Amino acid sequence: MGESNQQQVPLKEGFWTSGTPDGGPRLIGSRCTNCGEVYFPKKPKGWCLHCQQQTLEEILLSPRGRISAVTVVRQPPAGGFYHGPVPYAYGLVDLSDGLRLVSQITADDLDSIPVGGEAELVIKPLYQDPEGREIMTFMFTPVA
Ligand SMILES: [Zn+2]
Repeated sequence: MGESNQQQVPLKEGFWTSGTPDGGPRLIGSRCTNCGEVYFPKKPKGWCLHCQQQTLEEILLSPRGRISAVTVVRQPPAGGFYHGPVPYAYGLVDLSDGLRLVSQITADDLDSIPVGGEAELVIKPLYQDPEGREIMTFMFTPVA
């Protein structure tokens, strides 16, 4: 929580947990015990789209991955659903679980995010809602 005494609210419930043994945040996904397919976000009913069995179990995804593509967005997306700062970067992150995620990618210099570089999961404020609460989301950030 840091020094902030603001209320922090996840953008969406159930995407991640912070209460892990190593203390770091982890995304919550599903893995099929039959065919090994991995999903994010977690599939609530436990059905695997790949093998059509109800054999999914909840897993904590790897907090590390490799950035395989990145783009910098300099104008707010149309539609009014995005309330975060502009510019921002997003891209594809390949987790060691075999899952490819579309994620926002945060860095001090958005134009020098290394494609092919390692990244790790962070939970960051995206924007402040009208009640003054910090709306939190997951992002990946490059690691040296
Ligand atoms: Zn399956």
